[in-house]
Amino acid sequence: MPAVDRKDCAQCKSGFSVGAEDVALYKKFGVCVPKLCPRCRAQRRLAFRNERSFYKRPCDKCKKDVVSMYSPNKPYTVWCHDCWFADDWDPRDFGKNYDSARPFFEQFRELWEKVPKVALIHVRSVNSEYLNICADNKNCYMIVESSNNEDSIHCYWIQKTRECVDTSFSHECERCYDSDDIYNCYQVRYGKGCHDCRDSYFLFDCRNCSDCIGCVNLRNKQYCIFNRQATKEEYRKFLDEARLDTHAGVEKLRAQFAEFRLRQPHKYAEAVNAVNCTGNYLKDAKNCRDCFHTYEAEDCRYSVHAWRDAKDCIDCDTTGRGVQMVYNSHNTGISASNCICCALCWGNSFMTYCAYCYDSQECFGSTGLRKRQYCILNRQYTKEEYEALKKKIIEDMRRDGLYGEYFPPALSTFGYNEACVQEQFQLVKEDALRQGFKWEEHPRGTYGKETLAWSAIPDSIRDFKTEDINKEILACTSCTKNYRVIPDELAFYRKLDIPLPRLCPDCRHIRRFTARGPNSVWQRACGCAGSTGSPQAGAASENGAYKNTVAHFHGGGKCPSEFATSYAPERPEIVYCESCYNAEIV
Ligand SMILES: [Zn+2]
Ligand SMILES: [Zn+2]
Ligand SMILES: [Zn+2]
Ligand SMILES: [Zn+2]
Ligand SMILES: [Zn+2]
Repeated sequence: MPAVDRKDCAQCKSGFSVGAEDVALYKKFGVCVPKLCPRCRAQRRLAFRNERSFYKRPCDKCKKDVVSMYSPNKPYTVWCHDCWFADDWDPRDFGKNYDSARPFFEQFRELWEKVPKVALIHVRSVNSEYLNICADNKNCYMIVESSNNEDSIHCYWIQKTRECVDTSFSHECERCYDSDDIYNCYQVRYGKGCHDCRDSYFLFDCRNCSDCIGCVNLRNKQYCIFNRQATKEEYRKFLDEARLDTHAGVEKLRAQFAEFRLRQPHKYAEAVNAVNCTGNYLKDAKNCRDCFHTYEAEDCRYSVHAWRDAKDCIDCDTTGRGVQMVYNSHNTGISASNCICCALCWGNSFMTYCAYCYDSQECFGSTGLRKRQYCILNRQYTKEEYEALKKKIIEDMRRDGLYGEYFPPALSTFGYNEACVQEQFQLVKEDALRQGFKWEEHPRGTYGKETLAWSAIPDSIRDFKTEDINKEILACTSCTKNYRVIPDELAFYRKLDIPLPRLCPDCRHIRRFTARGPNSVWQRACGCAGSTGSPQAGAASENGAYKNTVAHFHGGGKCPSEFATSYAPERPEIVYCESCYNAEIV
C-alpha cells in the first residue's frame, strides 16, 4: 500500500490525503505539495473562468459594440476578437522586470490587469456571435465549450452536433432537445446517458432504442412505454394522449419519469471501457483517478473534461487534443504540453503561470502572447537569461511553498457570481468575499420587462401564433429574469412540437448541469439485495422495491461489492455495481 499523508486544506480546513502516487506526481512536475484540497483547488481555478455570463460593451480599440465576458464596468482594456488577434500590437510592449524582493503574484497582477483582454474566445465561427471557448461552429447561438457544430442553440459541450437546443455533453447528435450525455442520437427529447437512440422522449441510460417513452436501462427496443413493451398502435395512442406539445403534458411526464427512474437500478458510474479509473462520465480511459467527463485519456487525476488523448493531466479543467503533462490549469488544449498553472492557453508547451497565450513555448508569468518564446512577465529574454531568471523565481516561490499553487483568487478578472465556479461551488456574496474572491455588482439581464405573460401564452406550441418573436420578452418562472426566444429557436420548437420553455436559458442550463451530479465520489456498497421475481425489468417495481429479473453472482443475499460513486450515500437512487447492473440489462 502506498504511504498516505493527511493534510489540512488551507481554505476549507477539511483533511485530504496525499498519497505516494500524488507525491510522485508533484515531484515529476517539480511543484510543492498543494496547500488546498482537490475541491478547493478546482474552486479556485473555476473562479478564473467565465463561460457564459455575457455582456454587451464596446471594443476599446475599434469601438464596435461586441459581446464580451467582461462587463462594461470592468477596469480592463477589452478588445474584440479581430482587434485582439490582429498583428498590429505586441503584448511584449507591456513587459516588466521581475523584482525578487516582491511577491511574484503581485507583479503578475500588475501586468495581467494592463494587457488587453479578448472579449470572447472563439475561432473560425461562421454567423455565430454569442459563443465562448468554441471553435469551428456555424449558425450557432449561445453555445460554450463546443466545436464543429451547426444550427444549435443554448448548448454546452457539444461536438459535431446539428440542430440541437438545450443540449449538453453530446456528440454527433441531431435535432435533440433538453438532453445531456447523449451520443449519436436523433430527435431524442429529455434524454440522458443515451447512445444510438432516436425519436424518443424521457430516456435514461438506453442504447439503440427508438420510439420509446419514459424508459430506463433498455437495450435495442422499440415502442416501449415506461419499460413495458407496447404495440406500435398503443405507443402512438400513448404519445398522442401525453400531449408533449403542451407545457402541462411535458411536466406531468417529467414528474412520472423521475419517480419511475428512482425505482430502477442505476449503474454506479457512467463508465464505459474505463480501466482502473474512478469518477463519473468516463469513456475509453485508463488509470484516470477522480476524473469526471473524461474520455480517450490516460494517467490523469483530479481532472474534469480531460479528453481526446489527454495524458498525465493533473488538476485540470478542460484539457485535451493531444495534451500531455499539464498541472493545475484550466483550458489547455491542442497539443499543449508541460504546462503548470496556466489559464486558457492553447498549443503551448513549457509554459508556467501564463494566461491567454497561444502557440508559445517556454514562457513564465506572461499573458496575451502569440508565437513567443523565452518571455517572463511579457519581457523578452535570451534562452540563457530566461532559464536563469525562471530558476530564480521558482526558488523564491518555493520558499513560501507557493510554486504550483494556482493564481490567488484576487487575480481573477471575474466576479465569483459570473464565473462558472458558481455552478458547482455556490457561495453567497459575503462568503465569496471572505474567501478572497471578487463579486460582480453590474447587473446582468433585466427583470420585470416582459411583454408576454405566461397566463396569456397558450399551453401548446401549436396554438402559439406569435410571428414576430423578436419583439417579445418572457420572464423565467423560476428566477424571474427576462429572456428571449430567437426566431430559429421558435422554428425548432414548432418543428419538433415542443412547448416554449418557461425557464430562462440559465435555469435550463443549471437544471441539466445539476442533474449530472457532483464532481466527487463516495465509497459505497452495492444496493442490490439479491431478491428476484420480476419477469420484466421494472415490472414488479411499480408497487415498491425493485426486484431483479435474474439470479446474480452473489445469490439471494446482499451483494458484497463496493465502489466509488458520484451518488452520495444519502441519494435516493438504487445504485448497483457493474456486475449486478449488467445482469439486469436486457
Ligand atoms: Zn479545501
Ligand atoms: Zn475591435
Ligand atoms: Zn431563470
Ligand atoms: Zn452488486
Ligand atoms: Zn446483485
